[in-house]
Amino acid sequence: MHYPEPLLKLIHVFKKLPGVGQKSAERFAFHLLNWPDVHLQEMSEVVLTIKERLKTCSDCGCLKDEASCTFCDLTRRDSHIICIIASSRDVFSIEETHTYHGLYHVLGGLLSPLERRGPERLTIEKLKERLIKLKCQEVVIALDSTLEGDATSLYLKQELEMLPVHISRLAFGIPMGSSLDYVDGGTLARAFTGRNQF
Ligand SMILES: [Zn+2]
Repeated sequence: MHYPEPLLKLIHVFKKLPGVGQKSAERFAFHLLNWPDVHLQEMSEVVLTIKERLKTCSDCGCLKDEASCTFCDLTRRDSHIICIIASSRDVFSIEETHTYHGLYHVLGGLLSPLERRGPERLTIEKLKERLIKLKCQEVVIALDSTLEGDATSLYLKQELEMLPVHISRLAFGIPMGSSLDYVDGGTLARAFTGRNQF
């Protein structure tokens, strides 16, 4: 398509976003052309300052927008339990469940020999320091149910076993509202292994 250069550039920017193909990028770009200048200005300012305004907590690794981290606020959170997550984004999914009120620890990724990401790239030493300092009693591993997630969980278990903490991992099983006919063998096998008292 022979779009004018500025429009091509805008389409190209949108195509860098995950899940956005040529057609969607074109739709977004044409949509923006209809926005009033004040809204375009607002959007560009938000994008420009996002990294400056958003900080990472030096203790838990979660994102924060002010001096103190709400996820590390010991007056509101239970410091006896720490939930280990791969990315700071996972916090928000868990918080939405309203079932967990402990602390978090962002690992910064998963172990991956293929991508040459070893334990030294993760915040495991920092985690051990926090567990000791906070006198934590329980660690909940909330990592993906993938080869990398399994390998990282196993490594963490070995690393933390010498500490006086109870280690658990999120249960895996049949998705809510689904029929057994549609559940794959691997998921069903995991659901059997992780079955609970009923
Ligand atoms: Zn924090």
